[in-house]
Amino acid sequence: MKVVLAGYNVDAGILSRAREREGEGVTPEVLSAAYARISRDPRSAGSLRADALREIEKARRSNERIVFGLGHASVAEHAVMNFDVAGISRLAVEEIERFRLASFTEKSQRYIRLGRDLVVPPEVRGARAEKAFRALAAGLHEGYEEIFRRLTAAGIEAGRAKEDARYIMPLATATQFGMTMNARELEYAIMRLAAHPLAELRSLSRALYRTAKSVVPSLIRYPDPTEHWRDVEGARREIASIAEPRAAARRAGRLVELSAATPDAERLLASRLVFSATRRPAAECERAVRSLSAKSVRRIIRTSMRRMGPHDAVWREFECVELVFDLVVSASCYAQLKRHRMATILPQAYDLSLGVSVPETLKAGAAVSILRSATADAARFFRAHERTLGAATQYALTNAHRRRVLFACSLRELYHFSRLRGDMSAQWEIRELSNEMCRIAEREMPAAAALLAGKDGFAERKQAFEAEK
Ligand SMILES: Cc1cc2nc3c(=O)[nH]c(=O)nc-3n(C[C@H](O)[C@H](O)[C@H](O)COP(=O)(O)OP(=O)(O)OC[C@H]3O[C@@H](n4cnc5c(N)ncnc54)[C@H](O)[C@@H]3O)c2cc1C
Repeated sequence: MKVVLAGYNVDAGILSRAREREGEGVTPEVLSAAYARISRDPRSAGSLRADALREIEKARRSNERIVFGLGHASVAEHAVMNFDVAGISRLAVEEIERFRLASFTEKSQRYIRLGRDLVVPPEVRGARAEKAFRALAAGLHEGYEEIFRRLTAAGIEAGRAKEDARYIMPLATATQFGMTMNARELEYAIMRLAAHPLAELRSLSRALYRTAKSVVPSLIRYPDPTEHWRDVEGARREIASIAEPRAAARRAGRLVELSAATPDAERLLASRLVFSATRRPAAECERAVRSLSAKSVRRIIRTSMRRMGPHDAVWREFECVELVFDLVVSASCYAQLKRHRMATILPQAYDLSLGVSVPETLKAGAAVSILRSATADAARFFRAHERTLGAATQYALTNAHRRRVLFACSLRELYHFSRLRGDMSAQWEIRELSNEMCRIAEREMPAAAALLAGKDGFAERKQAFEAEK
């Protein structure tokens, strides 16, 4: 066996100096072009790379032919880029972080004391609403300072005070993040964002395209949205009108509901575990498990978890069990929830009728009224300008405002989610959410869900698991 380091990502400053010296070959297109040829050319990957480097224009033509002509599109995934994105709103970040074949690290509103950095969106700039928008944002920023002051004065430690004061901050708050994405996903993101109803995201799409085009021209070929993707907003409006022409707004109700789950989940899981452990067809494994006692089914599942530690994943067979949760979460909670890329996450637009999430600490600091009056101001702005500003009205909402989200995940992803989000170190709102999701999962599938817990609660769960025979 031979393992050769073929490339890695380094800082753009080094790359631009290298480009001055080496010319056009300083591009990840070389890797895509070389790997594209691995399937048809018997030479070593090293010589294919050397070839691509020597004749970069030929390599680019080959990429275009193979990736776009033949549809061997995964070849574009070998070209990976990093972007610093700053001066972007939290609302816009919600959308870009929906692209899941990518990595993001974002400035935390939990750990950093926030300033007054604000994105005044293009829809608002110069519009009748601008003055009211700026006044609203100034009021929210003052409210943040005041809540922080009151919480720390009430003896709440500064970290927790920052964490909870941010519930008042608007979704127009500016942030920055680092993003790593391969060329295939990047082209898709550029295309989708170009059709987004928010002007800020269309502008991000153009900026990403300009930047990527100069580095990987052969891999970003179709930046324009197709009719299919341009039609999303219109089609959604039509779908809503077909199903619920005169539906009244509803209050939040329960914040976590199970919408669907794999029927007879534990027998199915047991049959998948038997499948991987034997050489029998799936239908035969299902039949065999159907004839087993409930005790034997549990034993199969428990055997797969018997040596599990707090940092171990459950086996892949757990992906065959699905849970779909209907959640009501604040913007602050959604900011964390959306980061779980293995789940299918369908967020609705923010909905004033769902109310707001209020941190407990605000009661101790007598600051609840500050948050409530600020969220009411934001709601008034929203109602007054929704018709003219459309989707951009959401910039005025706060981290406390809520939306409904469908969160479909496998039991394997729920295990991972619970380790991170059910842990004591997790933020309180997502921790409560995670604990409730796990409680529901355990009710539905007690043996399969027996070790769901935050990292800190794992030892106790494992002890109970071992005590139960
Ligand atoms: C306490 C805490 C603090 C945080 N603070 C910040 C912060 O300040 N800023 C910030 O931006 N984020 C922060 N996060 C979010 C965090 O970085 C993750 O994005 C989030 O928890 C989602 O988890 P995940 O990436 O492990 O897994 P998921 O996206 O849920 O994926 C599940 C698993 O799939 C695998 N996986 C998925 N994608 C990849 C990939 N591309 N490469 C390799 N493996 C992959 C991994 O095994 C992963 O554990 C914080 C999270 C926690 C729990």
